[in-house]
This record gives sequence, structure tokens and C-alpha cells, in this order.
Amino acid sequence: MRSEKINPLFSPISSLSGIGPKLEVLFNRLVGPKLIHLLLHIPYNVIKRNRHENIHQALINSIVTLKVKILEHKPSRFKKQPYKVNCMCGEVPIDIVFFYARHPVIKTTLPVESERFISGKLEYFRNTFQITHPSHIIEVEKINELKEIEPIYGLTAGLSQRILLKNMQKILLLIPELEEWIENKIIKKYSFKSWKNSLLSIHNPKSSDDLIYSNVHRRRLAFDELLSHQLAIAIIRNYNQKQKGIEFKSSSLLVDNFIELLPFKLTNSQKNVWKEIKEDLTSSHQMVRLLQGDVGSGKTIIALLTILQAIESGFQTAMMVPTSILAFQHFNNVQILFKKLDIKIIILTGKDKGNSRLEKLKKIKSGEAKLVIGTHALIQDDVTFNSIGLVVIDEQHRFGVFQRMAFTNKGRKPSILVMSATPIPRTLALAAYGDMDESKITEKPIGRLPIKTTSLSILKEKKLIERLLIKLQSNEKTYWVCPLIEESEELDLKAAKDRYENLNKIFNKKVLIIHGQLKEKEKEEVMHKFQNEDYKILVSTTVIEVGIDIKEATTIIIEHAERFGLAQLHQLRGRVGRNDIQSSCILLHKDQIGENAKKRIIKMKETNDGFEIAKKDLEIRGPGEVLGRKQSGLPSFQIADLSFDGDLLEDVRKYVDLIFQNDPKLETNEGMNLKNLLYLFERDVAIKTLQAG
Ligand code: ADP
Ligand code: MG
Repeated sequence: MRSEKINPLFSPISSLSGIGPKLEVLFNRLVGPKLIHLLLHIPYNVIKRNRHENIHQALINSIVTLKVKILEHKPSRFKKQPYKVNCMCGEVPIDIVFFYARHPVIKTTLPVESERFISGKLEYFRNTFQITHPSHIIEVEKINELKEIEPIYGLTAGLSQRILLKNMQKILLLIPELEEWIENKIIKKYSFKSWKNSLLSIHNPKSSDDLIYSNVHRRRLAFDELLSHQLAIAIIRNYNQKQKGIEFKSSSLLVDNFIELLPFKLTNSQKNVWKEIKEDLTSSHQMVRLLQGDVGSGKTIIALLTILQAIESGFQTAMMVPTSILAFQHFNNVQILFKKLDIKIIILTGKDKGNSRLEKLKKIKSGEAKLVIGTHALIQDDVTFNSIGLVVIDEQHRFGVFQRMAFTNKGRKPSILVMSATPIPRTLALAAYGDMDESKITEKPIGRLPIKTTSLSILKEKKLIERLLIKLQSNEKTYWVCPLIEESEELDLKAAKDRYENLNKIFNKKVLIIHGQLKEKEKEEVMHKFQNEDYKILVSTTVIEVGIDIKEATTIIIEHAERFGLAQLHQLRGRVGRNDIQSSCILLHKDQIGENAKKRIIKMKETNDGFEIAKKDLEIRGPGEVLGRKQSGLPSFQIADLSFDGDLLEDVRKYVDLIFQNDPKLETNEGMNLKNLLYLFERDVAIKTLQAG
């Protein structure tokens, strides 16, 4: 049982005052439903909000706080026009500008004739000062609520820093004092502070130096996270050893038939990998295998062979992917590929509700559904399989090891195939997933030309567009990616929307846009149209990053390439080069870029090899770097980052061994403290396993 002390942290975020259904959805999307989820969402940088009496002392393009008097509202009359609020800062006019504004909200937050403090990025546009989408609007008497140094948190569209901060401060008051679960020796070695103090410090940074990788508070929390993870793996593995795996039949009529029907020949590398997997499947122990292969190397086909082998042996199979776009893509492709084989396939995503969902669950329970493709929706409690024999997990780094442990089959362990496009060093793979065998696809299908990568300053955008116009005659398609980052996702979304409108005019309505604020169904519709109708360009935020496979797409333009990490750039680039036409990737960057960004772009131009890129990625980043957004593509923990915290991991391992020697069931006092840790990181499965014996 979870202790009384930590229980309050597991209340829903909606239990905080002021969180209505709308905010609840946003918090849910960002971190999850509970207070503890928000508490573990640590800031990645700080903002200095310099307060100025006199606007002329403020730096253009910096974040400032100014006191203004509101004069007049100039609402937008049509969608694209900005909503402006004319104000005075002392004697100087300044406009506050909103795009896609909700008029009544702005009217009430900025009442005419009154004074407010406004904080945001100061710009100078057409001879007027302006602040677009200020992050804070504060009544004069409440100015003390605004800190001069403020942590910045990752956001989701629709949620502001201000709201997040306000609620975070409330949760910080709820952190209980808990007894230490890390042994003294380690506490001393790293000079760790208590769990509570570490959390308080990291959420109240004094400067960006407090948010670098080597910061002791972050390291303490990283240690906790790794410890909970490794301890849970050890507990579950210890128990699992008592369970048997599934032995599949070695006949392979379905597989042979399928290979026969494929419009291409398997590469040698694919053949080798399939041999390894088949041997494993037909042996009596459980297969747990990581299939690595660069983007575009053809992992999906291997997954399908594995699935067919399991189905031939009379088992059901599941394929779990990180996004519903991807689920639908696989579903559509597999339906075509399996057409002649008469196999019942079902798709299950978060969208399925009510009766249609119940229908699907019935088919899964009865065993009628032989292959179920889906998202996280696959591992909800009420999804029961009649006889599951194989689970395939695509683009693994988004999932944890515990999710795959959710699948069992009447005391037997289904085989697991995990697919990853990001090469994972062996030690990292072990740490993240526990023991796994590995197969690697080392070559791409024959005829694939290496993608040509070039970089271009945004100042030369016109030239690029002229080149694209020429392409318009062919069947080829183009992705145009705009990044989503930093202070206001609304602004970034605006950048993508503007880009879309601008291109759509030039390209005569042959342009589509996709972004995270669209509903799942809308996203699928856009993808479907792009693939099947005469559209040439898809403007997108990074939602296309994972797995999307459209053969006709031969050009990808990545705008603000300087803002992306290497692994992410490589993943994005992998969206093209999927047939035998020369593909290209154009890294569009702002004119002046920093050292590291330059290095990344050079590396991208130098090589198409994912392994090399992953290595370089780790090299460029260093322990003194500010946290930034997570984007390495490696298995991701919430706080720990294995490229920096490898030393912690070693100590965690030793400590877990020690715990297992002395108190494998966590029954002593120290054991109780460790249970608190397991609960805090929601490794409840491990605790259930302990109880099961
Ligand atoms: P990834 O490894 O990135 O998941 P996919 O499985 O999506 O790659 O495969 C990329 C594309 O290559 C798909 O369109 C697939 O049909 C095709 N493909 C896979 N194997 C071969 C092959 N041996 N020869 C030609 N095309 C192949
Ligand atoms: Mg894939």
C-alpha cells in the first residue's frame, strides 16, 4: 500500500483550485493526470525578466517587464489580422499583439484605462514598440508574484508558462519529508541533498547554472529515477525467471507465401535478421529482441514476418506504436499486404470509444482478431487477449520497459520484438530495457540513393522556392517542417500557419498543413490526402518525425534547422529517400548560427549513417550544457540522461545488488523507504510482483 505521506501527490491535477476541464486536458497531454507527474516535470532553462521603468532602457528582442496603461482595443476583423491593444509605457506608445485571439478573453484581461505589468519579448516593428503574446499580464498590486528569474518549462499548445508556474508553486507546498532511501555512502559521494530539497531547488533555479546537467539536484533526482527503474527491473526479472516462454511452430507457410507476394526481394541483411529471429521464435525460451536498423532500412517487413510466424502457430499478435498516425499507416499498409492471406486485423487507438470499442475488445478477447495494431490504448486494463503470442513495439524509445511487461498469456510470456531506428549502445540498451538480444539490419534496400543534404540561409528562401516550383511538374512531394519550441507554442504554430499560407498561394493550393493541435482524425485525413491526392507540399510541425512512410516524398525542408538536435534531424531526414529517386534534405537556418548548431549541420551534410550521427550527438553535448528540450532519440528517462549519468547508473547497479543480497523483498525499514521510491516513480508493477511471490 502506498503510504499516507505520499498519497496526496497522487491526486489528480484537477484537484488544484482553478483547474477546470480545459486545463486538465492540457496538463494531461503535457505530463499526465497526477500532481506527481507535474512535479517531475523539471524546468529546462531560466528566463530573466528585466523590469524597466523606461522603455528606452530595455533591449529590443529581449524579455522585459513593463508597466503600461491600456488605451484602446483594435480587434482583428478577419482571421489572419492581428488583434492589437494600444498602450502607453510612460510617454511611449506600445502595442500588445495577439494572433488568432479569443476576443472576450483579451478584453477582460486588458481593461481599457487600467494599468498592467506586461512581460514578454520586446520588439520594434514598423516604428512602434510591441510585445506579441505576452507571457504574463499582471495587475499592478500583484507584481510581486512575478519573479525576476523564472524557470522555463516545456509546454504544450494552449498552456502558458504562467499557468504552469502558478500550479507548480502550489504542488511544491505539498512535498512531504520522506526518509532517505539512498545509502549514506552514495549520498556522501555525490553530496546529494534530500529528495524534497532537491525538488525544491530544481524548481526554483537562481540562474541557468542551476539547470545544467551536472547540477547536483538534477543528479540526485536522476539517481532516484534510475534506482527505481533498475530496482523494478531486477524484481520483475527475478520473478519472471519462473515463467516459461512460448515455442512457435517451425513451419512457415504464411511467411513463405507472403515473401512470394512481396513486390521486392528481401535484402541480405533482412534475410539474416529473419533467420536469427526465427531460430529464437522456435526455441522454447521467451524471445526478447531489439531490432535495430537505420531509418528506411525496412524493419516493418521483418516485423510482419515475425507476426505471421506467430499467427501460423495459432497465436494472436499485437503491434504497438507511439502515435495514432503511425498506427493507421501500418494498419492501411498491412491490410494491403495481408489481403491474400485472410487474416483478421484490428486497429485500436485512443479514439475508439463506446460500442465500436467494445466490439473490438470482444474480437480481441475471442481470439478472432489475429493482429491488433494500436497505440497505448493496447495496454489498458480492459484489453484482454485470448491468446497473445507476440508483441511488436515500434520506435521503442517512447515506451518504457514496463509497458511490454504488461502483456502476459496465462502465466506464459509472449515473445517481444522491439524496433528502433536510433542505434543504441549496448550498455544503454541494457540499462533501459534489461536483457535483450539484438539483431541489426545493416544495409538499405538496393537502389536507394543516399539523400543529398544541403544547408541554406533563410535569406535565400526565394531561390529555394523557385527550385520547388520547377519540381511541381513531377509526381514528387515535399515535406516542409517548422519547429515547435520555446516560450510560446502559439507563436510557433503561427509560424507554421503563416508558412502554409504563404506557400499555398505560391503553389496554387497544392499545399496541406498538419500540426499537433489537429484532432487525430483530422491528422489522418491530412496524411491520407497528401499521400493520395494531387498535393505537393505538406507543411508540418514535428508530428511527422516518427515512422511516416510516403514513397513519393523526395524532398524535406527543415526550417530553423539550427534548433534541432542531430538525432531528430536524422529522423526527419529519414522521411525521404524511400524509393530509387534522388532525394534531398535542405536545412534552412537563420543567417547567423551558433557553434554547436554549425557542427550539427556539417555532420548532417557529411553522413547519412545513423550510427555515426548518434556518436557525434553525444560528443557535441557536454555536462556543462543547459538541459534544453529532450531530443536525443535515445531511450528517454524523464530526468536521467544516460549520456551524462552513466556513472550514476553504475552506482545504482551496485546498490541494487546490495539490496537484493540483504532484503530482496523490501521488508526492512530501508526496504519500506525504497518502496516509497518505487511508488513515486509508479513502478507499482514491481511492488505487485513482490507480493505475488
Ligand atoms: P523503417 O526501417 O524506417 O521502419 P520501413 O520498414 O518503413 O523502414 O521501410 C521503408 C520502405 O522500404 C517501405 O516502403 C518498404 O516497403 C520498403 N522496403 C522494405 N524492404 C525492402 C526491400 N528489401 N526492397 C525494397 N524496398 C523495401
Ligand atoms: Mg519504421
